[in-house]
Amino acid sequence: MLRSHTCGELKIEDVNKEVTLSGWVQKVRDKGGLIWIDLRDRYGITQLLIEEGRSDNSVVEAARKLGREFVIKASGKVIERESKNPNILTGSIEIDLTGIEILNASLTPPFTIEDNTDGGEELRMKYRYLDLRRQPLRKNLELRNRLSIETRKYLDGQKFFEIETPYLIKSTPEGARDFVVPSRMNEGQFYALPQSPQTFKQLLMVAGYDRYYQLVKCFRDEDLRADRQPEFTQIDCEMAFVEQDDILSTFEGMVKYLFKTVKGIDCAELPRMDYADAMKYYGSDKPDIRFGMKFVELNDVAKNKGFQIFDDAELVVGIVVEGCADYTRKQLDKLTDFVRKPQIGAKGMIYVKCLSAEQAGNGDGSFKSSVDKFFDQQALKEWADKMRAKSGDLILVLSGETEKVRKQLSELRLEMGNQLELRKSGVFAPLWVVDFPLLEWDEDSGRYHAMHHPFTSPKPEDIDMLDTKPGEVRANAYDLVINGVEIGGGSIRIHDRDLQKLMLKHLGFTDKEAQDQFGFLLNAFEYGAPPHGGIALGFDRLAALFGGQDSIRDFIAFPKNNSGRDIMIDSPSVIADEQLDELKLKVVK
Ligand code: ASP
Repeated sequence: MLRSHTCGELKIEDVNKEVTLSGWVQKVRDKGGLIWIDLRDRYGITQLLIEEGRSDNSVVEAARKLGREFVIKASGKVIERESKNPNILTGSIEIDLTGIEILNASLTPPFTIEDNTDGGEELRMKYRYLDLRRQPLRKNLELRNRLSIETRKYLDGQKFFEIETPYLIKSTPEGARDFVVPSRMNEGQFYALPQSPQTFKQLLMVAGYDRYYQLVKCFRDEDLRADRQPEFTQIDCEMAFVEQDDILSTFEGMVKYLFKTVKGIDCAELPRMDYADAMKYYGSDKPDIRFGMKFVELNDVAKNKGFQIFDDAELVVGIVVEGCADYTRKQLDKLTDFVRKPQIGAKGMIYVKCLSAEQAGNGDGSFKSSVDKFFDQQALKEWADKMRAKSGDLILVLSGETEKVRKQLSELRLEMGNQLELRKSGVFAPLWVVDFPLLEWDEDSGRYHAMHHPFTSPKPEDIDMLDTKPGEVRANAYDLVINGVEIGGGSIRIHDRDLQKLMLKHLGFTDKEAQDQFGFLLNAFEYGAPPHGGIALGFDRLAALFGGQDSIRDFIAFPKNNSGRDIMIDSPSVIADEQLDELKLKVVK
């Protein structure tokens, strides 16, 4: 027998039991006559005790040969510890050892395998199997496992079928680049790895499987960031005979179920916000509504007062930062530097301090601003009234082109949220953003692109505008946003062949191109396609969010680095000439 118990389960009630544990040596402390070993496995850490003179000599000798990460089998009796450690589950006991067997030796690991490690990112990635031994990662994967089980339970309870779709497909245009796979049997031809199973899940609706889901790998050849990986997992879902409300309520149910079962949190009803309002009040289609600081547009009180910068601007817009009228020159300069950073790109920032009587040193308070030359006390009071700023508050204002200035102010709002610790971890504020535009203008190609994907249906009442004002057509599309992160998105789809063809035409496809690329879908729509729609949630992101972290990397067992490399297995890599020959491929250097 290699073990009678795990390293995470023995407690005070087990005192006097004879046990056998197996695991990895995390630490050996040799205090002359007394040796303590921390033995670790997936379940926890148990302390082993050896006492020179009292313990068997062979045990003492074996203990002195141990190094970090040796795999051992240890037998002995559970005893109560003299000094207890309340921080670990097994902290009241230790094992008085009667036998040690070394099952395998280990080289000294390149970094410490403890909760806080001294290993850098690259080194940990290279030895991922060692990094994965650390409890924080183990906990992340445990959370991920729980989430996947609860997701399946919920969807199963709602009569969804999990159906696998192929990984070797033909490219579906979802906005990103495809990873391609050469076909040996079809010279010069390539498969694409799915960016999502979009068209397949729609075909499953045509096939009559009216509730489909899949925890599925998707592949996108994009530039990487902390919350992106070239291969990632989605909870991909589709339903037939539904309208937008049916989907939102089904998946609102899932979100609430997951928060309840996995985090023990009761979620209130999810607010629904129009895309247009999200942009107007938060400058973002994924607003973090854990805190207020909603935008207030100031054109009517700020423009045409002789201040050129505002007069030239399309939009003057600000936020109220509560209780920050006492910000110093230095703090304000720092914020100005922040908005001027190239990634943000504002030219400058205007502030108004709404000073209390005490701060102003007079009887009734006053305003102090960076535009005092152009706006007198009365004018600034008008701003403050409009923004519902109270005395003691700080107003921050940006101006410029509407779209740009909203983005810039959104960054500033989030920065203030961070500085004032209003974006609390452990607080979750999910919402639906609905009524996205169907199309978005792409400067580079000089034409409209589908904002979600080409299969998203326009709102029926907006279809007439497709020809006249394409940019204003709204889609039956929605996103699930939690704490400023887009967790998922979906839409009601087009299920009518003619409308799908019209849509493709508006996206710049000729009839022939549409038929070549999407003939299979257009044809299927001729055989009784039901109304349908769906959603996909980013599973890695959901796990990271539930785990209270921004980066998805440590919620994936074997992730890739920022250049898309797996540095543990050293991939991507060159392949042998014979393989290239077989594929009839040539590498041109
Ligand atoms: N296929 C879409 C995506 O991956 C989601 C959906 O529309 O269901 O973003």
